Amino acid sequence: MRTKLSRRSWGFRALTLTAGAGLASFARPVSRVQAIEKDWLYFHYEREPAGLPAVLPELRALPERLSSYYGLKLKVTPVHVLLFKDRQAYLNHLEKTLPRAPRRTSLFVVRGGKPTILATAGKTLARDLLHEAVHAINFGSFGGRQVPLWLDEGGAELFEATQTSQDLVHGEMLRGIMGEQRDALAVPLKLSSLERIELPTKTDALFYAASWAWCRFLAERGTPCHAIWRRYLSDIQADIAAGKLSHRLTLAEPNYETLFLKHLSLKTLDK
Ligand SMILES: [Zn+2]
Repeated sequence: MRTKLSRRSWGFRALTLTAGAGLASFARPVSRVQAIEKDWLYFHYEREPAGLPAVLPELRALPERLSSYYGLKLKVTPVHVLLFKDRQAYLNHLEKTLPRAPRRTSLFVVRGGKPTILATAGKTLARDLLHEAVHAINFGSFGGRQVPLWLDEGGAELFEATQTSQDLVHGEMLRGIMGEQRDALAVPLKLSSLERIELPTKTDALFYAASWAWCRFLAERGTPCHAIWRRYLSDIQADIAAGKLSHRLTLAEPNYETLFLKHLSLKTLDK
């Protein structure tokens, strides 16, 4: 189970806040740092973190897995990954270069046009890297076009660890909010509620849990909502004003919340 501390979200929406701090500011104080290329990721670290080799195959496979999840061709652009030896080094860097960024365990930002992941060596490294890498791929593939925050975070949660592990992370919270209620969807779990939260600073653990559950549901090929979601994604990628997914679902599948609720009950409540 993760602590509050490890919930992270920043994303490319907030990037206008980050003036000018480039990779040079990382390289300067630690002169031995060199960029080490591993496929589409360019790592910067003093010493390779112990947990890094194990997560590399997953990072390598991530673009293809995401592409098949979205049903879209994705554009994978080079991403810089700054790995800090401990939390203090990470915080010092944030203090100097991103004073307004949330103090979580990792971050995805675009600095001077360069997509960049910041993370700390430690227990959550694999999760953090996979999570932020989803944001990086979304950024590369959907360009400046807005991917809704719930979709960006829900997808990142979906791919950062196994299904079983994510059930443990989010299931309890979803069960808590639903209680014995099986007929109507609790307001905070509604897609239309999630869509109203557009700033990373306004998110909480429930937002992540609900977004994760929607992203998992929409990917199910058996639901009639699946095709509507896929069309929505391809419209975002094509720069067609995509609007809100909940509006499209209401028109095409008026009972979509019931379908989601049923899926949620089967997957999360009756395990
Ligand atoms: Zn995130």
